[in-house]
Amino acid sequence: MTGTVIKVTKSFTFDAAHFLPNHKGKCAKMHGHTYKLEVTVVREDGKLMDSGSDEGMVIDFSDLKAIVKAEVIDKVDHNVLNEVFSFRTTAENMAAHIFDVLTDKLRPLGVKVAKIKLWETPDSCAEVDYE
Ligand SMILES: [Zn+2]
Repeated sequence: MTGTVIKVTKSFTFDAAHFLPNHKGKCAKMHGHTYKLEVTVVREDGKLMDSGSDEGMVIDFSDLKAIVKAEVIDKVDHNVLNEVFSFRTTAENMAAHIFDVLTDKLRPLGVKVAKIKLWETPDSCAEVDYE
């Protein structure tokens, strides 16, 4: 390590419906959001691939896109989140779940999740990263 760490971020959007049981306000009723998901990843050593097709990259953007699409987007897009997840579907809980799912999938590639940012509305997001 020379003190620098290189990360890459890919953004996604999906539409989904949900409601929050026991919420004191209008979120207790079924409603929808266009969510924006930002996935930031880093190689285990903070450096770039030094050979092969991915030389000079953290991960090929198209590979990252395929993993996030298969593991997250395809499962939530145009779905009712309360039917997809057993936990309360707050942006915070979903961001934490996505962090864990993608961490497991990326580990074999020598890549880890640095940050998950999930925008529920254009001005409200939850983010998960390391302390
Ligand atoms: Zn909501």
